[in-house]
Amino acid sequence: MSKILYGKPVAENLDIQSKDIFKDYASKHDKLPRLTAITVGDNPASLMYVSVKEKKAQELGVEFNWIKLNEGTSESELQETILENSSSSQGMIIQLPLPQHLEIEKIIDLIPSDIDVDGLTSFNLGKLYSDNFNVIPATSFAILELLSHYQIDTEDKNIVIAGRSRLVTSPLSKILSSKQYNANVTVIHSRTSNQKEFISNADIFISGVGKSKLFDRSYFKENSYVIDVGISVIDGKSYGDIDISDLDNYLSGRAPYPGGVGPITVSGLYSNLAKLIS
Ligand code: NAP
Repeated sequence: MSKILYGKPVAENLDIQSKDIFKDYASKHDKLPRLTAITVGDNPASLMYVSVKEKKAQELGVEFNWIKLNEGTSESELQETILENSSSSQGMIIQLPLPQHLEIEKIIDLIPSDIDVDGLTSFNLGKLYSDNFNVIPATSFAILELLSHYQIDTEDKNIVIAGRSRLVTSPLSKILSSKQYNANVTVIHSRTSNQKEFISNADIFISGVGKSKLFDRSYFKENSYVIDVGISVIDGKSYGDIDISDLDNYLSGRAPYPGGVGPITVSGLYSNLAKLIS
């Protein structure tokens, strides 16, 4: 029977550690640590994700400062909002995606790197190439925590990652190939023609694409691990990237969607906040 790698116990462990750090912070500073979240426009998925983060803040003892800007907010107005809130915040996130007229890279880089709790500024992403990085973007961090919790060895293992985005998959591929994890990492993407050849050789396959049921059993190596990160919504119903038919006795384990990486990602954000204030 393939083991189902649920995210909940991993998230619970992270939350226990973060909660202690926030409690210490509150008693030393006589105030809760403050996380500022900025949303621009009313993309329903973004508002939903930020509500989940807000709920987790209350649970963990963090003051959540949600700034809701309208769709037409200009770059300079956004810059002003970031500046106004930086010194009073221990962490800051800008929920993606942003409206088309705002350039994501430029806007993210307006966040001071010492409160960049998502680890997505060019400075913090660049630090992933040094030995002393502090924060890892939350989804990559969540996947690393999942592997560690379920004691899935990465040393000299073939890991194939589908996707090469700045937000999710690119930081992960960098870290897994580092001397800490020693994996043999292959990144595939929308222009990779012989995907099956790569994936069928993977001891661990991680999919962060966002296309429903893109990969099925015929792609996977027997007794490998499969981690489903992608999310797509069709007719109001959400799906992962993996078609799970006939996988039960075929894999060593799989992180499902929903219930796998997702719950750890939100806790990962607060682990990053805990690191920034420690
Ligand atoms: P993204 O920026 O759209 O990136 C998608 C990546 O998938 C791109 O690199 C793209 O390749 C690649 N791709 C597209 N079609 C492909 C195909 N047929 N085969 C292989 N690769 C293909 O999305 P993202 O921000 O990285 O997010 C990825 C997915 O993860 C989304 O579904 C998102 O909702 C989900 N997500 C989940 C969590 C969680 O906690 N579970 C957190 C964040 C995001 P190109 O570079 O060639 O275009």
